[in-house]
Amino acid sequence: EPSAQEKRPEPARLRIATASLAGCFGCHMSLLDIDERIFELAAKVEFDRSPLTDIKHCGPCDIGLIEGGVCNAENVHVLREFRRNCKTLVAVGACAINGGLPAQRNHLDVGACLQEVYCYREGLDGAGVPDDPELPLLLDKVRPIHEVVRVDYFLPGCPPSGDAIWKFLSDLVAGRTPRLPYALMHFD
Ligand code: SF4
Repeated sequence: EPSAQEKRPEPARLRIATASLAGCFGCHMSLLDIDERIFELAAKVEFDRSPLTDIKHCGPCDIGLIEGGVCNAENVHVLREFRRNCKTLVAVGACAINGGLPAQRNHLDVGACLQEVYCYREGLDGAGVPDDPELPLLLDKVRPIHEVVRVDYFLPGCPPSGDAIWKFLSDLVAGRTPRLPYALMHFD
């Protein structure tokens, strides 16, 4: 006869998905900077789409973490899929919040940029701008994610530190509104 303790069902684990759009994966690396606390996190959550799994499309989730801004049509598609599926969507890092480094191209003409990179550089021998239909179309500007979908929370930094990500996620997983102490709030 199992004891009352054994009969009690396991608390449901929250499901988390992460994606990098126009980012450098630095924010994902910072998530790994929580070091051994990842075991504590893994006991409370399970991962849907993320670099830790081989899941290609985000399914229904509690929390979605988005790194990177929106620079092409595929980013728009992935971001909308996350918004549809995630109860809480978080913009993680400067690129997701305001476009970050990739948005430095916003004051340039995207066509001229492509020509410069693929056509006029020495040694390219007129290779031409890649136009494989599988390549996602570029947007004229790199956009912060809140210009495309509704965003619930913004976690600043380039990248946010592992400690900031830990505090933020601990609050969310515990059902609290995330709050960062001043010492963990960075914009660089
Ligand atoms: Fe990389 Fe910084 Fe952008 Fe994060 S915010 S993806 S670390 S450039």
